Amino acid sequence: MEKTLAIIKPDAVKKKLIGPIIQRIEQEGFEINEMKMIHLSKKEAEGFYAVHKDKPFYSSLTDFMSSGKIVLMVLERENAIEKWRQVMGVTDPALADPGTLRHTYGFSIERNATHGSDALDTAKWEINYFFK
Ligand code: ATP
Ligand code: MG
Repeated sequence: MEKTLAIIKPDAVKKKLIGPIIQRIEQEGFEINEMKMIHLSKKEAEGFYAVHKDKPFYSSLTDFMSSGKIVLMVLERENAIEKWRQVMGVTDPALADPGTLRHTYGFSIERNATHGSDALDTAKWEINYFFK
């Protein structure tokens, strides 16, 4: 079975969306293998998103991701990485398909409610970043 890292981002936690997002995760057939709530420091957010360090949105993104509590989960399912990205929808909520989490709960391309790993190697790296 494949594993992916899911994050409920600070915007969704502040809007009391932990419950509906976890309900959707369970409805979509994922097992939640690990789960914890933390408040990232700016440094920890920078480390997690280091792949984006040269992007113009890096500073704003890491400010946002360290602005409040987040919920981290390791999700397990057949084809978990691709399936979780389908359930979330594309990065920009304005472009995400109706019924996806980002369409329903996202506010902007930055404040887009959830995160998901994008490949097997990044999933392994991201899970190890938070769950050693
Ligand atoms: P994630 O990695 O969070 O699951 P993603 O893989 O869909 O999202 P990435 O390109 O990896 O998108 O971008 C990481 C995060 O950076 C996005 O989820 C979003 O919060 C933010 N982001 C991406 N593009 C922009 C942008 N153009 N302006 C502002 N923030 C952005
Ligand atoms: Mg990504």
